[in-house]
Amino acid sequence: MRNRNAVVTGSTTGIGLATARELARQGCHVMLNGFGDRAEIDRLCADIAAQSGTTIVYSGADLSRPEEARAMMADAAAALGPIDILVNNAGVQHVAAVHEFPDDKWDLLLAVNLSAAFHTIKAAVPAMRERRWGRIVNTASVLGMVGAPHKPAYVATKHGIIGLTKSVAIEVAEHGITCNAVCPGTVLTPIIEKQIAQQAQVTGLPEERVLQAVFLDRMPTGRLIPPEEVAAAIAFLCSDAAASITGTAIPVDGGYTTH
Ligand code: NAD
Repeated sequence: MRNRNAVVTGSTTGIGLATARELARQGCHVMLNGFGDRAEIDRLCADIAAQSGTTIVYSGADLSRPEEARAMMADAAAALGPIDILVNNAGVQHVAAVHEFPDDKWDLLLAVNLSAAFHTIKAAVPAMRERRWGRIVNTASVLGMVGAPHKPAYVATKHGIIGLTKSVAIEVAEHGITCNAVCPGTVLTPIIEKQIAQQAQVTGLPEERVLQAVFLDRMPTGRLIPPEEVAAAIAFLCSDAAASITGTAIPVDGGYTTH
């Protein structure tokens, strides 16, 4: 993947950061995106660049805003050149019963977890078609395949992004572009850490039981998935070797969806 240009959204922490590191390690120039302390993010970019020898840039675009998603893609092309690889990974969660679910959270989750991917894909596809090569990977979730209580917006967006993945995959296949989704089980990242208190509230479980009862008991492997294992699957989907894999939703889930 030497000298491919990549955008990885939501890559200041967790799965996105591990993916940005892995793509850079394999020779990609990468635009990172996401929230966080600016000085820390600058250090992160410098660290990845020093290890990979590739160009690493950052966009603080708020992907809940379509105009910022579009501007980020234009900035990425201006900084790196035409974008070959797009990983739509930014995501947010909110846990509440459907009858109490706040309207603004519903709108936020739809915007970040689903609509942002539409806007970035729309911006990325023309240059990929022109160059007859492209890789789009969307981070869905096991909750794009099965339901879960107290997460109506998250489950809807993750099912939605798998639908978007399939539709785009069919459309762009003849142009040398693939579009796939990965479906992680439980990876201990900030998105899960922030949920522990909310889950304790809606389930009535003590906080120290939540990780085991809500997340780990569902995975036959019984262990948290390291972000690097999801990143490895994403990087494979971005490689030349994965040219015939398209329109798929690949579980990286410790067996979560087998039962
Ligand atoms: P995380 O909280 O570490 O990462 C989320 C990233 O998205 C961060 O970089 C954050 O700054 C960014 N982000 C949030 N709102 C944004 C916005 N409005 N604009 C731009 N960036 C924004 O969590 P993670 O687990 O690494 O999540 C990455 C993806 O993986 C998400 O789509 C999540 O739904 C999915 N996922 C995670 C798990 C898990 O167990 N951790 C399981 C399945 C799927």
